[in-house]
Amino acid sequence: MDMIDGFWLWSGVMAFVALFAWLAWRGWVKRPEEELEAAPDIVVCERCRTAGKPAMFDPGDGLTETLLWICALLPGVVYSMWRRNSRKRICAACQSAEVVPLMSPRGQEITR
Ligand SMILES: [Zn+2]
Repeated sequence: MDMIDGFWLWSGVMAFVALFAWLAWRGWVKRPEEELEAAPDIVVCERCRTAGKPAMFDPGDGLTETLLWICALLPGVVYSMWRRNSRKRICAACQSAEVVPLMSPRGQEITR
């Protein structure tokens, strides 16, 4: 009886871990590609007027992320998702977040 209970408990835990591993894999592997496809456009910086490919900025830091993953899986997953969901484009020259697409009216105005 104890063996069977142990088996189901273990299966449950493994299924749980597998689910989160899958979610993390999706967050890690899929998103950057999707984002590259969604944002191949050239942006213009409002601050320094540099036009070019934007850099990507993840808020938070990788060390905290790694520590959370090692110490506690669930907060690690949540933290990773937050970082990737709040990723934004920044100016490659001055790191300003005030960038607009070159083809937008505002972008045309800046580069005129
Ligand atoms: Zn700039």
